[in-house]
Amino acid sequence: MRILIVEDDVLLGEGLCTALKRAEHVVDWVRDGQSAWHAVRAEAFDAVVLDLGLPQRDGIEVLTQMRAQKIATPVLVLTARDGAKERVRALDLGADDYLGKPFDRDELLARLRALHRRAHGHAQPAIEYGELRLLPESRELRLRGQPVDLTRREFMLLSYLLDNVGRVATRSAAAQHLYGWNEDVDSNALEVHVHSLRKKLWPELIRTVRGVGYMVPALPVEP
Ligand code: CA
Repeated sequence: MRILIVEDDVLLGEGLCTALKRAEHVVDWVRDGQSAWHAVRAEAFDAVVLDLGLPQRDGIEVLTQMRAQKIATPVLVLTARDGAKERVRALDLGADDYLGKPFDRDELLARLRALHRRAHGHAQPAIEYGELRLLPESRELRLRGQPVDLTRREFMLLSYLLDNVGRVATRSAAAQHLYGWNEDVDSNALEVHVHSLRKKLWPELIRTVRGVGYMVPALPVEP
């Protein structure tokens, strides 16, 4: 997943970045509400971890603006504020989940996975496509029960394509899901990952839509 962290507390922000990166997510971090708003408007994230007490614009304002502009990215609100009132308000304004500080990192990771499943209409933790079985939590891929070894980016790209089965993933959207702001992206990096996935799995799994991007066909074409 590509996740935006919005948190002005430097120690907490750094800790979150480290924990999420360790769990193989692509992470970008901003420290104020204005930057958060620019980021969610400009790029596609799978989830936003949003602190409420922020400089410039508070989290509630960012959330309200996002939903008013029909930006549907799942939002998990972090709050140090006590009481149910603030949480109820955030949920009613369009937050998808919340965690009160201090929180357990594993719980945050599990909640983000749950948000992602819900956003893509999966009830099961595993994503199945024909004889492929992808397990986001353990980052495992199995083909007919046999493990297939994928690099981090290959796994992320395949997850993204399988989340969008039957729909064309544009090259820029796919690249945005694979790389954060501070990462250098080779212009043909995406092709290299696609090529490698086809080789490790089977060629017809990923179709090239010329001039647009890539697609995993709605009906599994088996190897
Ligand atoms: Ca704060």
